[in-house]
Amino acid sequence: MTPRDNHMPTDELRALDAAHHIHPFSDTAQMRARGARVITQAEGVWLTDSEGNRILDGMAGLWCVNIGYGRTELADVAARQMAQLPYYNTFFMTTHPPAVALSAKLAQIAPGDKNRVFYAGSGSEANETNIRLARHYWHLLGHPEKKTIIARKNGYHGSTMGAASLGGMAGMHAQGGMPIPDIVHIDQPHWWAEGGGMSPEEFGLARARQLEEMIDQLGEDKIAAFIAEPIQGAGGVIIPPETYWPEITRICREHHILLIADEVICGFGRTGHWFGTDYYDLDPDIMTIAKGLSSGYQPIGGSIVRESVAQVIEDGGEFNHGYTYSSHPVAAAVALENIRILEEEKVIDRVRSETAPYLQQKWASLADHPMVGEARMAGLMGALELTPEKASRAKFAEEGAVGLMTRERCFANGLVMRHVGDKMIISPPLVISKEEVDRLIELAWQSLDEGMADAR
Ligand code: PLP
Repeated sequence: MTPRDNHMPTDELRALDAAHHIHPFSDTAQMRARGARVITQAEGVWLTDSEGNRILDGMAGLWCVNIGYGRTELADVAARQMAQLPYYNTFFMTTHPPAVALSAKLAQIAPGDKNRVFYAGSGSEANETNIRLARHYWHLLGHPEKKTIIARKNGYHGSTMGAASLGGMAGMHAQGGMPIPDIVHIDQPHWWAEGGGMSPEEFGLARARQLEEMIDQLGEDKIAAFIAEPIQGAGGVIIPPETYWPEITRICREHHILLIADEVICGFGRTGHWFGTDYYDLDPDIMTIAKGLSSGYQPIGGSIVRESVAQVIEDGGEFNHGYTYSSHPVAAAVALENIRILEEEKVIDRVRSETAPYLQQKWASLADHPMVGEARMAGLMGALELTPEKASRAKFAEEGAVGLMTRERCFANGLVMRHVGDKMIISPPLVISKEEVDRLIELAWQSLDEGMADAR
């Protein structure tokens, strides 16, 4: 088989895949029993599989294909850049035009004084960088003991050791001795599941104040930073109550710790603004970016850093950190073209003024389904809480089983909707049309009916 061999029969593809390919976040036994899904092409918001089925991608890949599939401008830019300068690094006091142009553009669209960028190949790598940046920053300021990072349970920051340690996914920590030292976690602001008798506002404040309690317990002089996603994505689209972020901001300022906003999902239009930081009017010191930065067309991530923080790092001599693919010229050129399209086609403005209000209204109607306890959405990211009993917010006996069955039903019906336990989540390409939104809702309702029947 060669890379051009796109027409191999599906059974043969599956057999070769099973023989040679270790899949991320997949249950291999289940996958082999059913056969891996084979996706062969895509256009707009539609995937095509090897059997010719068209599937509406309600997840934009992995929350990343913001401008939709099939934009040949990005392929053209990549081809031109590959012909001109396929690779060079920015180590050892070197640069190249795509890295310069992308950095200047990001400095322009990032809010406030966040105007320096350090590049990585992914969101995980960027969060590794953030651990290094935060600790190095305090070290240079004469506080080497300020190195603990506070993060949140059920947060997601990537799969490398540092990033997965920042994340608060128990299932990940259980495999491989995580978290690494000096990373601690507070509870998430998930009102529907954990709010008990509190109002959302009370609960938001209570959860934010856990940060202050943790700082008091460990000592401000030991804490480097707090990291969080503006809206938790992989944890199940957890939209914090309105009181949460202002209180977190106050606490970070008063206790002199850096605030790192992980914008890997929220960034580049997902909330109807450039960044989740704009959506919540935050002022983080560092923002993690990836995914929508290139709409997933090239692997690229990075850390956008506040000028005053970057200045300390820059004045500290050589920062002994970097990846072979930091500021990769092809990835940078593609990201720049992606941002040009987002801007010139006013994609984010349309999300804010048209698509998100439309989808949100339709999505809310799914709360009428007998199995849906809550239908929440911010921008174009949403979740359904599945429950056997709405009034008590009860859990299913075997957590995640109904979510999994519903996800499989969605796929069979022609819709990608992911499940996180018994939450169903969506994050479609930002270019989804109103007709496609209508179709998404129809398919979701049908799949919920079938998932509910399976559960009986
Ligand atoms: N941060 C957040 C908020 C994410 O959602 C993800 C991936 O889903 C990451 C970081 C890790 O990014 P990557 O998978 O590109 O390493």
